[in-house]
Amino acid sequence: MPKQRLFTPGPVEVPQVALLAMARQVRHHRTPEFRATMGEVFEGLKYAFQTENDVLVLASSGTGAMEAAVVNLVPRASPLPKGEGGGRGKALVLESGKFSERWRLIAERFGIDVVRYELPWGEAFEAAEVDRLLKQHPDIVAVFSTLQETSTGVGHDIEAIGRVVRKSPALLVVDGISGVGAMECRTDAWGIDVLVVGAQKAMMTPPGLAFLAVSPPAWKQIESIERPAFYFDLLAYRKAAQAGETPYTPAIPLIEAIHESLRQIRSAGMETLWAKSRTLSQATLAGIAALGMKPVAKRPAEGLSAVYTPEGIDTKAFLARLEERFGIKLGGGQGPLKGKIFRIAQMGLIDEVDLLGCLAAIELVLLEMGQAVVLGSAVAAAGQVLAQRIG
Ligand SMILES: *Cc1c(COP(=O)(O)O)cnc(C)c1O
Repeated sequence: MPKQRLFTPGPVEVPQVALLAMARQVRHHRTPEFRATMGEVFEGLKYAFQTENDVLVLASSGTGAMEAAVVNLVPRASPLPKGEGGGRGKALVLESGKFSERWRLIAERFGIDVVRYELPWGEAFEAAEVDRLLKQHPDIVAVFSTLQETSTGVGHDIEAIGRVVRKSPALLVVDGISGVGAMECRTDAWGIDVLVVGAQKAMMTPPGLAFLAVSPPAWKQIESIERPAFYFDLLAYRKAAQAGETPYTPAIPLIEAIHESLRQIRSAGMETLWAKSRTLSQATLAGIAALGMKPVAKRPAEGLSAVYTPEGIDTKAFLARLEERFGIKLGGGQGPLKGKIFRIAQMGLIDEVDLLGCLAAIELVLLEMGQAVVLGSAVAAAGQVLAQRIG
């Protein structure tokens, strides 16, 4: 059986120290020792998210934190008058892919009025259009956006979007579930009011934890509305976090794991991690271009690449062959891109050697499947990028 090599944009491989930390006996969470660990986790997350805002830890997958962001910020339809927890909130959703679509689906489920800025999958949002929609709908409470759209490999310009949202009364919410830790993300400097992050992507931790960073203006909004939530009522998380705790039993082994992964992240440094992912993603794109393949994204992300499978190649068979022959697991396509694309992650522990090996394996499998491939061409093109950028 080949060695497992995960190149999926979540879950990712986890550092050995984090795996070992999960193997220790379960500690009790209402103890000074565990509170000290939690305190370091909160600090580590603030560093990773580049924020001084409150950071909250939920025992859920990333989608749980997305739901928490929606229900805590935007009031749903209510018979009460506005100002008494009533009214009906309006949200702007920037939608172009499987995960940004989820913002809309959650908001609609809670009876929120959704203004959609929808683009075909693979395209990137324009700040000017966000500005126009905010002016057209001055009652929008929050803008829901995505840093790295994992289904299309697009990296959105959150910095530019932040500049226009900041001029309006609306709050900026960003799904950084797969992006944070790989792509540059400066929560405070870019004016992100609520950042949502997941454990199992660039944070290099097994799935089951989600994080939120919440700004003071976002807290003000949260305090002012009726929140249709109990487990996900963020005021309870804020209160507990002030005491170095979570309101309910935390996922203790996962906290032990993220504690170690955050130490690795801090010792590497965010700038270094961002530069590494950027270089690897550029090398990936150079490699696939050398094989005549095209990226899905008009504005490529830096923690994963989504690539159209060449004409005449069955995507399912291609992915299955990479896995059975080399143990390489790539992501497939979702929604309308299912069967048409594959996705390669560049986050977490994935390094230059991994990427060169992955490209070499792709060459071999394409050759085996009847494509005219010059062996070494993708590896050479990627190597050129690495030669220039990695010192
Ligand atoms: C993975 C992912 C999600 C969903 O996270 P889950 O942990 O599967 O709930 C949401 N948004 C983006 C951008 C993602 O990559």
